[in-house]
Order: sequence, then C-alpha cells, then structure tokens
Amino acid sequence: MENIRRLCESCMETHEVQVVSREEQNIFNGQTVTYEAVYYHCENTDEYYADETMLAENDVAMKNAYRKAKGLLTTDEIIAVRKKYNISQNSLCIVLGWGEKTIHRYEGHQVQDYAHDSILRKINDDPEWFLALLEKARPSLSPNIYSKCRSAGEALYTSWNTDGFIENQPGKAQIMSLVCSHKGVKNNTPASFYYQGKEEERLSALRNLMDTMSISLRQAMEALKIPSSEYEKYAAVM
Ligand SMILES: [Zn+2]
Repeated sequence: MENIRRLCESCMETHEVQVVSREEQNIFNGQTVTYEAVYYHCENTDEYYADETMLAENDVAMKNAYRKAKGLLTTDEIIAVRKKYNISQNSLCIVLGWGEKTIHRYEGHQVQDYAHDSILRKINDDPEWFLALLEKARPSLSPNIYSKCRSAGEALYTSWNTDGFIENQPGKAQIMSLVCSHKGVKNNTPASFYYQGKEEERLSALRNLMDTMSISLRQAMEALKIPSSEYEKYAAVM
C-alpha cells in the first residue's frame, strides 16, 4: 500500500516500513467473517504488527463484515444517514431518545441491535418521520441545530415527494394533489391530515363503486353525491 519511515517496533530500527492490507478471517458472535485488515510489515524480520489506530480500524472492519453478514447497516451507512439530515452524533441521539454516546459507538466498534437498526433505516427512508421526531425533540435542541436539521429534512421530504414518492406509496401522490387543492392547506398540518383521510376514503369508495358496479367514474361520483364542481379534480387523479 505505502511505506512509512518510522521506528520499527519489530526490529527496533528506523526504516521504511510497509503498510499492507491482508485478508483476515475471524469468528465474531459465532459468525465467521472475512475482511481486509491493515498491518505494518517489517522486511528485516518479515513480521506483521499493528499500532493502536490499526487495531481499532481492523476491529471496525471485522464488525462491518459481521454487520453485512447479518443484514445490518455498516458504519459508513449509518454515517450517511446522519449526514443526510445534517445532524451530529449527539443531536441524533437526542432526537431518537437514545443514550448520548449510542450513535458514536454504532459508527464504530459497537454493533447495533436489530431494533435500533430498523429505526435508523426508517429515518433513512422516511424524512417525514424524521421531521416529526425532530419536532418533538425541539425543546432539547439549540435553535441553530434545530433549524439546520429541519432544512435538511424538509429538502429530503420535498424530493421524496416528487421523486420516489409514487413508486414508494402508490396512490399517495394523487391524494396529496387532492389535499393541496383545498385552499390554504399545507402538508403536515392537522387540516392536511384531515383532508388526506377524507380523500383516501373518497377515492377508494369511487374505485370500489366503479369495480363492483361496473360503472363510469362520472356515475360513481354522482352516486357519492360529489359536487359537480369537483368532478374535474377527481377525473384528473383517477
Ligand atoms: Zn523493522
């Protein structure tokens, strides 16, 4: 990989010591894992050895191989979730109600349990949920931290709405467009949840009628006594 001139702890002389990467196999928690470990190699003694930093890195490499084998997020993936929301390790612990060093440990040598792993995945997939948790934790966060995480969460929420939204939740985009058609209603307000429920009910009632009675959308709307001024709106999303 590279050479570093240092006092070699193997032959006790100062020379160019090779830094090498070696495939290593270990058993962790009963699971056999294979990973790349980093060592110094002394050409004089043909010995491999590691300093404190290498030992720590090798330990994380082993834990990450274990995480992968068990279908858990790796340290890099956990860091990526956190960066997405522009939030520090400590603040994320506050938002999640976890002990203050929990995320710090999960981004290193401590393998997270399945329950915590699911929560991190949920945050990764669902900015709306993150924003709800952030709102709850608001009194415990500085205004600065709160607003910077909120902006990040809202930006993700917006792109989530426009990009993967239809794929992720079939029908939800249509419902949101109906919700937004109610004047002055914004996403995530109590009124929007009210209209969301109402529109979901109406759309499924319309679909059921059309299916079971083999009637047209217009006939279904008439049957449900939907005001004719709203026909166009439903026609656009069905
Ligand atoms: Zn040496």
